[in-house]
Amino acid sequence: MDKMEKMLLFAVPTSICNFRCMYCYIAQRPVHYQGLQADMKYSPEQVAYACRPERLGGLAYMNFCGEGETLLSRDIDLYVRALVERGHYAEVVTNLTITPMVNKFLAWPAELRARLEFKCSFHYMELKKRGLLQTFADNVHRVWDAGASANIEVTPHDELVPYADELKEFSMKNFGALPHLTIARDDRTKGIDYLTSLPMDEYDRVWGSFDSEF
Ligand code: SF4
Repeated sequence: MDKMEKMLLFAVPTSICNFRCMYCYIAQRPVHYQGLQADMKYSPEQVAYACRPERLGGLAYMNFCGEGETLLSRDIDLYVRALVERGHYAEVVTNLTITPMVNKFLAWPAELRARLEFKCSFHYMELKKRGLLQTFADNVHRVWDAGASANIEVTPHDELVPYADELKEFSMKNFGALPHLTIARDDRTKGIDYLTSLPMDEYDRVWGSFDSEF
């Protein structure tokens, strides 16, 4: 694998999402889900030129995350592609349900797909409620089959506890492994409190059973 000199985080200011996750930090802001596309001042080629490896001091690992669902950002595939064509590696945060945009990424040449990863937020209850669990699983497999990477991550939250066994069963059946877990913080506090009302030993008992190295 190439040596990467930098990690760049791109916050994509598109405030559109097809989900309404109960723990979403974006929904806690005074303004959220406005349905606004990012007003891009520069073209994909200009952004890629500004971030060329010679200027950054080498290759970079680049993370792209919208203020909503990243794959609902207009032309996001073109922006990411222009950077990957420069040799960089890309990670796109997504709920992986916007299949037409997933298809645009998967139509890239194989050598570019090999440097692409989807950080797949596995919003189990929203997917179940909207009948999209199989769409999510099918898209994960299409990403893997295309030679790109898909990392499956669950946000632990108290309402999900009764569904934890069901989620594990779905994951083993569809992915052959349990998903990773991220930690949800309570952004209303100044510390690093976990977003839970469970006692810590109970929180650890439930979510520790996933054995996620995250
Ligand atoms: S998919 Fe992401 S942005 Fe959309 S509601 Fe869920 S957590 Fe928020």
